[in-house]
Amino acid sequence: MKQTPRIVILGAQGAGKGTQAGRLMHRLHIPHISTGDILRDNVARKTALGKKIGAIIDGGQMIPDHMTNAVMRNRLRQTDCSNGWIVDGYPRSIEQAKPFHVFGKPNVVIELHFRDKDAIKRLSGRRVCPQGHIYHLRHDPPKKKRGHCDHDGLPLKQRADDTPTAIRKRLRIFHARTEPVISWYRQKGLVVEIDASKPIAVVYREVLKKLKRLPWLSSQLSTK
Ligand SMILES: [Zn+2]
Repeated sequence: MKQTPRIVILGAQGAGKGTQAGRLMHRLHIPHISTGDILRDNVARKTALGKKIGAIIDGGQMIPDHMTNAVMRNRLRQTDCSNGWIVDGYPRSIEQAKPFHVFGKPNVVIELHFRDKDAIKRLSGRRVCPQGHIYHLRHDPPKKKRGHCDHDGLPLKQRADDTPTAIRKRLRIFHARTEPVISWYRQKGLVVEIDASKPIAVVYREVLKKLKRLPWLSSQLSTK
């Protein structure tokens, strides 16, 4: 029976969730949905939601789960999601995972294993372009022009949450709030575990190898 791929990628900050999701997106021809990108985009465009989120972030608070859930529910309703999707960086808490299990029904969860010290090393070298393309000063620098995106030529920047202090804080939140989500999915038999400490290409090969073991997904991965 053909199932649409509804893939969640979870793992500590810097494990390469966005990068791996991007590669799978091209392979499977389904959208890659990053909660962080949607939220940042709303803030940048100053939508009604974006203004609310901006105020919460400026006040140093976390965005409430119900708000993130609403954003995701709306996004997954859009027509480009009808053949499946890859979600990265969501759900980050049990309070997000439970409603998501009703409106999203994920059918595989990729867990990217990553140690804290590797996360700090990797993230402090990360640079992004305004369109969301991701690079790393050492492991994945732009090929055309130093400090500029290969896709659109825009200048690369370090995100405010990629500084070492911010990274440590995010890791603490990950251990407290998101690790229980991974255990919860593991109990449901949905988790595929990957060692994310290796180079991006090696991790991706491992992801493909393990996903191909899922009978309903293997043919979709083999077609192209
Ligand atoms: Zn770019």
